[in-house]
Amino acid sequence: MDTERFGGADLDVVVVGAGFGGIGAAIEFKRLGFERLAILEREDDLGGTWHVNRYPGLTVDVPSTTFSYWFEPNPDWSGLYARGPELKEYATRVADKYDVRRHMRFGVSVDGARWDEDEGVWHVTLSGGEVLRTRFLVCATGFLSQPATPDIPGIEDFAGTVVHTARWDDSVAFAGRRAAVIGTGSTAVQVIPELATEVAELTVYQRTPIWVMPKLDLRFPPAVRRLFARVPVTQRAVRLATDSFMEFLMVVAMWRYRTFRRLNVSAAQAAWVHRFLSVRDRRLRAALTPSYDYGCKRPTVSNGYYRALGRPNVHLETSGIERIEADAVVTRDGGRREIDTLVLATGFDVWKTNLPAIEVIGRDGRNLGKWWRDTRFQAYEGVSVPGFPNFLTLASPYAWVGLSWFNTVEYQQRHIRRLFGEVARTGGGGFEVTAEANARFLARMEDLLGDSVFRLGNCASSNSYWINGRGEAPLFRPTSVRDAVRTQDRFPLTDYTFR
Ligand SMILES: Cc1cc2nc3c(=O)[nH]c(=O)nc-3n(C[C@H](O)[C@H](O)[C@H](O)COP(=O)(O)OP(=O)(O)OC[C@H]3O[C@@H](n4cnc5c(N)ncnc54)[C@H](O)[C@@H]3O)c2cc1C
Repeated sequence: MDTERFGGADLDVVVVGAGFGGIGAAIEFKRLGFERLAILEREDDLGGTWHVNRYPGLTVDVPSTTFSYWFEPNPDWSGLYARGPELKEYATRVADKYDVRRHMRFGVSVDGARWDEDEGVWHVTLSGGEVLRTRFLVCATGFLSQPATPDIPGIEDFAGTVVHTARWDDSVAFAGRRAAVIGTGSTAVQVIPELATEVAELTVYQRTPIWVMPKLDLRFPPAVRRLFARVPVTQRAVRLATDSFMEFLMVVAMWRYRTFRRLNVSAAQAAWVHRFLSVRDRRLRAALTPSYDYGCKRPTVSNGYYRALGRPNVHLETSGIERIEADAVVTRDGGRREIDTLVLATGFDVWKTNLPAIEVIGRDGRNLGKWWRDTRFQAYEGVSVPGFPNFLTLASPYAWVGLSWFNTVEYQQRHIRRLFGEVARTGGGGFEVTAEANARFLARMEDLLGDSVFRLGNCASSNSYWINGRGEAPLFRPTSVRDAVRTQDRFPLTDYTFR
């Protein structure tokens, strides 16, 4: 790596990952005056999720007015639910505007990082073997950046074309193909309606049905976009409505399940009406009905998914895949369907290769991934971990708040602001969260989860990536966005020790 670019010396801050999380953190560090900053990204461009995922139908499932940085509203969204490429453009524009792109290094994969207590620096090892030394390390590798391939017998012997939705191959032509899609999560819900109109035959292999809500897929005509640009308060007003709706949905349907179970059931009933109106075939409707509570697994919105499944060239298989042969998928009920193209909409590996996505060794050789697994998944305010000085982890246990990821990015920016204000005041040496503060925070999260759908609802059959192998749901901060934001402005600074 060309260290000359960074002043020919050590760095102040290394951020791993150039998605919206890494961009947000970098903007905050720039605001704090850090210029010796490097953002390391293994891909060839920025945007994270929105650079890597290019499958047809890619769109947000949270209204775009909410799914964007508060400090950078975008009047150009084409509609209430922007299409994937718009998010990539937005990421590029924000990175350029806030001058963080010049700190980015692409095609740089980070293997791991080790804390050096004597020097008070992190040694960050790149996949080529090069080591960078930085005072502060930020892991912004996202929850959904390590694609998962299903462990199905015979899959490696399949002779046709295999495409993972997170590694879409634009050169694959689907017209006239006999394709199969494995998975029925949020991505599958977006890609299936697109493929269904192109292919000759499409078989969808479902393990777990997903809750699908109708989508208020409003387009913003040019006049509305001009209004948003000229009178920004109008877009803020729409945002107020979409923020409030998403906040309400999450808090009542998921976190206050004990009190508002009735509202959770109402959400499920709305989805039931949507299914009833979209799917005429009673057996198909039954097969698409989730057997777990609304909110156990990421619900989605679509007006095209159910209709696509009702097309004569689309078949839903629910009996489970037994094996894959060179030219077919064989199900447990003995069915065999010949296919030439296999689409893996099987999502991401959150619990094995992520959390953390790189090896992080802290003080006294503490290995973050191992420690999380040996004890509990935990991170104070979803950002810092005892035993890991000068280290912030953004996609971490109890970090995710609200249904829009930007809520998380921005409350974490606030945390960085307050924390680094104190770091500067105390001489700039660094910080470490105390074990007591971390334990107190974990206990509070545990306590709050006691009222949630994860504890009180029926999530057993949800196969949700929100729940780990131990039956715990430690990805989310089970509070309102408002609570998360306010806490970052007033957490006790004594929760940290400063060098
Ligand atoms: C298809 C899809 C649709 C989604 N839709 C929504 C939505 O509508 N609303 C919502 O709130 N969320 C949605 N999400 C979640 C989405 O991931 C977040 O909203 C957000 O974009 C995550 O940003 P991030 O920067 O934290 O992570 P990412 O965007 O995943 O970025 C992480 C970056 O880290 C890089 N990286 C990882 N490991 C390394 C390494 N070892 N070395 C170097 N670089 C590395 C990756 O290449 C990636 O660029 C969606 C996710 C997917 C996959």
